Amino acid sequence: MKRLTVIAIVIALVVAFFGFDLNDYLTLAQLKSSQATFDQWLREFPVLVPAVYFVVYVLVTALSLPGAAIMTLAGGALFGLWQGLLLVSFASSTGATLAFLVARFVLRESVQNRFGERLKAINRGIERDGAFYLFTLRLVPLFPFFVINLVMGVTRLKTWTFYWVSQLGMLGGTAVYVNAGTQLAEIDSVGGIFSPELILSFALLGVFPWIAKAIVRVVQRRRAYKGWTRPKRFDRNLVVIGGGAGGLVSAYIGATVKAKVTLVEAHKMGGDCLNYGCVPSKALIKSAKVAHQMRHADHYGLNAQQPTFSFRAVMERIHKVIKEVEPHDSVERYTGLGVDVVQGYATIVDPWTVDIALNNGGTRRLTTRSIVIAAGAEPLVPDLPGLDDVGYVTSDTLWDTFAKLDEPPKRLIVLGGGPIGSELSHAFARLGSKVSQVERGERILAKEDIEVSEIAREAMTADGVEVLTRHEALRCERDGDEKVLVVKHEGEEKRLPFDQLLVAVGRKARLTGYGLEDLGIRTERTVLTNEYLETLYPNIYAAGDVAGPYQFTHTAAHMAWYAAVNALFGQFKRFKVDYSVIPWTTFMDPEIARVGISEAEAKEQEIDYEVTRFELAELDRAIADSTTTGFIKVLTPKGKDKILGVVIVGTEASNLMAEFILAMRHGLGLNKILGTIHVYPTLAEANKYAAGEWKKAHKPEAVLQWLDKYHNWRRGGDR
Ligand SMILES: Cc1cc2nc3c(=O)[nH]c(=O)nc-3n(C[C@H](O)[C@H](O)[C@H](O)COP(=O)(O)OP(=O)(O)OC[C@H]3O[C@@H](n4cnc5c(N)ncnc54)[C@H](O)[C@@H]3O)c2cc1C
Repeated sequence: MKRLTVIAIVIALVVAFFGFDLNDYLTLAQLKSSQATFDQWLREFPVLVPAVYFVVYVLVTALSLPGAAIMTLAGGALFGLWQGLLLVSFASSTGATLAFLVARFVLRESVQNRFGERLKAINRGIERDGAFYLFTLRLVPLFPFFVINLVMGVTRLKTWTFYWVSQLGMLGGTAVYVNAGTQLAEIDSVGGIFSPELILSFALLGVFPWIAKAIVRVVQRRRAYKGWTRPKRFDRNLVVIGGGAGGLVSAYIGATVKAKVTLVEAHKMGGDCLNYGCVPSKALIKSAKVAHQMRHADHYGLNAQQPTFSFRAVMERIHKVIKEVEPHDSVERYTGLGVDVVQGYATIVDPWTVDIALNNGGTRRLTTRSIVIAAGAEPLVPDLPGLDDVGYVTSDTLWDTFAKLDEPPKRLIVLGGGPIGSELSHAFARLGSKVSQVERGERILAKEDIEVSEIAREAMTADGVEVLTRHEALRCERDGDEKVLVVKHEGEEKRLPFDQLLVAVGRKARLTGYGLEDLGIRTERTVLTNEYLETLYPNIYAAGDVAGPYQFTHTAAHMAWYAAVNALFGQFKRFKVDYSVIPWTTFMDPEIARVGISEAEAKEQEIDYEVTRFELAELDRAIADSTTTGFIKVLTPKGKDKILGVVIVGTEASNLMAEFILAMRHGLGLNKILGTIHVYPTLAEANKYAAGEWKKAHKPEAVLQWLDKYHNWRRGGDR
C-alpha cells in the first residue's frame, strides 16, 4: 500500500511537471532570457532565492525530470562559480539520493526476488567494489545521471556510500557546468559544453580507481614475496600438506593432470574423517541403531529384546570398518595414482620451499611452484578449571580410549550441543550409557531451524539423553572417587557426576607450527584466503577444515578441486570457489539433512519465500517401515518452483536429500521433481510428494473454474 502511494505521488508530480509545461522553462533559451529577472530577484531576496533554487533542483533530480543540466548552468549564471558549485553539489547529491531511495523502496524487493539468484554475483561485487563502480559511473559524463540513481537503488549499496561517492564523483562534471553557466551568454548548446577531449579526460579519471586498485594488488603481491628468493627451478609442481579429504583430492587432481605432486601426511592417511570422524562415528551409530531396533522390536510384531553385547566387540567393529575403508586413502593407492606420498611433518620455509621432518627420521627439502595447505582442524578444548585433572576424551581420543572399556561408560557427559555432540550423545545413550548433554546455548543444533532442534531434542530425550540446554560448564572437580562437572543453570550451580567426559564443543583449524606464522600468512580462526583460495601468497592455497567456512569432508573435497586447479592452471584461468549449494547431515535418528538456506537465513536476506511441507506420516513406505517421524520442508521464492533450501528430517534423510541437491545445483525446480517417476513404495517418493504439495498450492484456480464449467456443459447442463 505504502509503495503504491509513493508510486502515485511520483507519477502525479511528473504528470504535473509536463501537464503545466514546466519543462519549457528548463531550456537554454528560457534561461538566457530570464537571467536579468532572476538576478533582480536574487538582489531582492538573497536567501530565499538560493533556498528555492536548491529545493527545485532537488525535486528535479529526485523525480528524474529532464533539466538538471540547465539547472546546473543556472546555478553558475545566478550565483557565480563557488556558491553555485556549493548549491548544485549538495542539491544534486541529495536529489540523486532521494531518487535512489525511491527506486530502492519501489523496485528493489521485486527485482531482488525475481532475479535474486542472478543478481547474487552483482550484489557481491557491489558489496566489495560498489563505491568504485559508482565513482567511475559518476565521473564519466556519458552515463546518464538519473539512470545511475535508479539502477544503484535496486542494488545493495549502502545509502550513505551512495551519497558521498556521488557527491565526490560528480564534483568535476558539476564544476564544468557551473563554470560554463557563469558565461551563459557564450553558450549555444548544452551538449557543446563537454568537448570530446573533456569527456575523455573524465573517462580516464573514471577508470583511474580501477587502475589504482590493480596496481595495489600487484604491489601487495610483490610485497608478499619481497625478501624471498624464488628458486630458478622447482622439484615439484605441487606440494600438498595433509592427507585428509582436502589433501587427498588435491593430490589426486594434480597427479591426474600429470603434475609432479608430493603429498605430505604427518600422521594417518585419510585424516580425521577416516580415523576419528565420519567413518568411526557412523559405524558406532549403526551399532546403536541395531540395539535400538532390538529394544523396540515389538513395533514390528517381534519380541522386544534388551540387547546384550560386548562393548569391546562394538569398538572392535568400528576399528575393523576403519581398516576396511583405509585402502581407499592409503599410501599404496595414491602412490599407484602417481602421487609421491611422504610420511612426515611439513613446514613451509619460504613461499616455494617445504621442509619435511620424515616420520622414520631425517629430513627432506622440496621446492615447488605451488602449495596446497590442507592441514585440517582439531577438537577445541575449553579452558575449564580441573578438566585435565579429571581427564576427558575428544573425538580424536575417544575411539582408542573407549576401545579399552568392557562396557559403555555408565555415566557419560557430552559437552557440546552441535552435530558431533548430538550424534555421539544419541548413539551412546542407545548403547546403554546414561548420557547428559550439556549445552550453554538455548538449544541444540543451533544452526538449524527451531522446530528441527526441538525434534532432535525429543528424539534424544526419548532414548534417555538428558539434554541440558542453557547449562554452562564452570569447572571439573573430584569428590572422593567421583568426578564431577559443575554447571550453572539459571544462576544456580548444579553438580553432575560422571564416569567419562566427552568434549565436543567445536573444532579449530590447525594454524600453527608449520610455517604460517613465519611467512605472515594471515589467519583468523582459519587460514584467510580470497575467493580463489589463495592465501597472501598467490602460489599458496588452502582447502578443507583449515580454511573453512564449512567443516565437512565433502566441502573439503569440493574446495580441493578449486585449490588444485587454480594452483596448477591459475596463470590461464582461475576459478572462484562456489559455496552456493552446500548440503550436510547430522546423523542422529531421525537424520537431519539440510541444503541451501534455512527460514532464518531467508528472513535475514530479505527473501520473499514460501514454505512447502510434506509429513512423512503421509508416506506409505514410512508407514510400512514404522518410520513416520519427520518431514520435508522446501523453501521457494513466492510463486516460483525454484528451490532455495530444503530440510529433511527422517530416516535416510541424507540419501533423500541427494535429489534436491542435484536439482538445486542444476537449477531444476519442483515441477521437474514432480514430473519424475519415483519407485513405489520408497522413502524417495516423499520428495515427489513435497513437490506435489507445492503444485497443489499453486494450482491454476481460474483455469480449473473454466474446466468445471466446460465439463458441466459437456454433461448437458447444470446437474
Ligand atoms: C566425530 C566427527 C564426525 C564427523 N562426521 C562427519 C560426517 O559425517 N560428514 C562429514 O562430511 N564430515 C564429518 N566430519 C568432519 C570431517 O571429518 C572433516 O570435515 C574432514 O576430515 C576435513 O578434511 P580435511 O582434509 O580438511 O582435514 P583432515 O581430515 O583433518 O586432514 C588434515 C590432515 O593434515 C595432517 N597435517 C596437519 N598438519 C600437517 C603438517 N604440517 N604436515 C603434514 N601433515 C599435516 C593431519 O595429520 C591430518 O591428517 C566429522 C568430524 C568429526 C570429528
